[in-house]
Amino acid sequence: MFGAIYGDIIGSYYETHCTKDYDFIFQRESTFTDDTVLTVAVCKAILNNPENITRWQVRNRGLEYAGQYRQFYSYHPQAGFGNMFSQWAKSDVYKINRSYANGAAMRVVPIGYAYQSLEQIYLQAKASSYYTHNNSEAVRAAQAVAIAVFLARNGENKEFIRSYLENKFHYDLSVKIADIRKDYVFDSRASYSVPPAIIAFLESNNYESAIRNAISLGGDADTEACIAGGIAEAYYKEIPKHISDFCDRKIDYTLKKVILDFKQRYGF
Ligand SMILES: [Mg+2]
Repeated sequence: MFGAIYGDIIGSYYETHCTKDYDFIFQRESTFTDDTVLTVAVCKAILNNPENITRWQVRNRGLEYAGQYRQFYSYHPQAGFGNMFSQWAKSDVYKINRSYANGAAMRVVPIGYAYQSLEQIYLQAKASSYYTHNNSEAVRAAQAVAIAVFLARNGENKEFIRSYLENKFHYDLSVKIADIRKDYVFDSRASYSVPPAIIAFLESNNYESAIRNAISLGGDADTEACIAGGIAEAYYKEIPKHISDFCDRKIDYTLKKVILDFKQRYGF
């Protein structure tokens, strides 16, 4: 789980100080953001209720995820949440939002770790998007990320992961990071920002290079790195110590406690 969180932390500085430099330095001002808070909320929803669901339970399960999003938002409302999400989280009713942004994909990594079948990953990813990103583009991106984590953790090779995702989600994952980077901009639309995050992982050769690829695209850096880092940890199964040393002290204790509980249960 820390792979996603560290990506968010290291990318946070570059969300507002965009860089195209692969060799960027880790910045002292880096901090966890909404990506971390909501990833932890997903962990909590799974720890509270790890049961599999059927397609007829997606909406009810969605309510459990949504409850955790609202709860964790209330702990860290200043963590960089978008306006639309904040309004949703503060409203008295559980209204259904139809955002097409990458918010559902940025927090979905734990689902790829926790569930044991592709079918269950699809359903849980959909449920986790139901109240905030009830939009086919956003749901598809969330499912793609969760599936990538699932395949990576189960030892599938990158070519398999690439072609599986291309076939299922109709993304073009053959583009090179250097080519994407040239005119990449900050745009949090799921269909624009999620495929490059997956490519950042596919083109990496270790955890650190995945998040460097993601951040140096020069876009929504924390989210790109959160997604790429989450998949990369599942695949490489190790994170360099200098990265954990840099990030660990920046994670709020109550968030860390949930991540450690999740890690103890699911091994990541
Ligand atoms: Mg963020």
